[in-house]
Amino acid sequence: MGNIFKSLHKKRFKMKNILITGGAGFIGSHLVKHFVKKYPNYHILNVDKLTYASNIKFLNEIENKNNYSFFKIDICDFKSILKLFKDKKITDVIHLAAESHVDKSIESSIEFGKSNVLGTLNLLEAAKLNWKSKNKNLFYHISTDEVFGTLGEKGKFDEKTKYDPHSPYSASKAASDHFVRAFFDTYNLPILISNCSNNYGPNQNKEKLIPTIIYNLINDTKIPIYGDGKNIRDWLFVEDHINAIDLLFHKGKIGDTYCVGGKNEVSNIDITKKIISIYGSITGKNIVELNKKIIFVKDRLGHDYRYAINISKIKKELNWIPKTNYVLGLKKTVNWYLND
Ligand code: NAD
Repeated sequence: MGNIFKSLHKKRFKMKNILITGGAGFIGSHLVKHFVKKYPNYHILNVDKLTYASNIKFLNEIENKNNYSFFKIDICDFKSILKLFKDKKITDVIHLAAESHVDKSIESSIEFGKSNVLGTLNLLEAAKLNWKSKNKNLFYHISTDEVFGTLGEKGKFDEKTKYDPHSPYSASKAASDHFVRAFFDTYNLPILISNCSNNYGPNQNKEKLIPTIIYNLINDTKIPIYGDGKNIRDWLFVEDHINAIDLLFHKGKIGDTYCVGGKNEVSNIDITKKIISIYGSITGKNIVELNKKIIFVKDRLGHDYRYAINISKIKKELNWIPKTNYVLGLKKTVNWYLND
């Protein structure tokens, strides 16, 4: 049995044409750069529609590499996706393309249904139609811990937690997770899903919490915090997440789900104050005065109280733990936005 797994893992390290969707977004841009640089024998095909949340300039340093290609395609366009699978002989998919902002999904959910659900389904169908000897392929879906709903003061999400999404965003991610698993159960499509906690780091769009705080500090404007600021997130530095994705892509068990978290629970108000103190010490500005910029605003509708992840499974099976110290990760992030 051990040998069979070894030979399967070997196969998963060979020449590949890997379709990474959403590679011009926050997490995707880090992932594409990581794979292009680390695996010269893989051809990385980045498919992105280039929505407002993307920035193709994040990929400037690799745009001329031989093992990298970019395609401006909407994953809702099934014909183009199918053609790409056939023409480029796609062997694997790491699927990140999605509408990703909860607040936007609360304002209007249609695009979330289209990109996150229909888009995922198109990719699954294309993989199903093209992958004949399935043990050489992998469809890896990057999902979120928000599919599990909310926690109270105690407990953590793990791979057995029941789905209970609350926002249109998390409902769309939950629906796409279900479709991915259904393709494993029904067609034997080799899939893997990871559900991760909130990422932070360079390249994140300014609509999200941490970039909003930093941009408002830079622009000397008020820093809006939802409700009483006590909601808790488990912050994961994007580079740690990329290392987990790399490991899971190569060594994760086909058909399985893995929870990935930062082991780093912080309330929104505490992370805001920490960023203010880091920003103040980098720029020499008065931290007491900067703290006065915080204003509490009407809470987000259906705001989940707390997310936290139990990482025991990925730790035990793949020896992965998040390595980035939270203050160091935030310093890197603040410096990146200051120099952006
Ligand atoms: P992002 O919004 O920064 O990037 C998403 C990318 O997908 C953008 O480049 C966008 O242009 C592209 N895209 C959107 N719709 C598309 C479509 N129809 N066709 C082609 N491309 C399209 O998002 P992110 O924060 O990098 O998140 C990436 C993935 O990770 C998402 O699936 C998200 O649900 C998941 N995730 C993110 C976090 C987080 O904290 N950022 C946490 C858990 C899970």
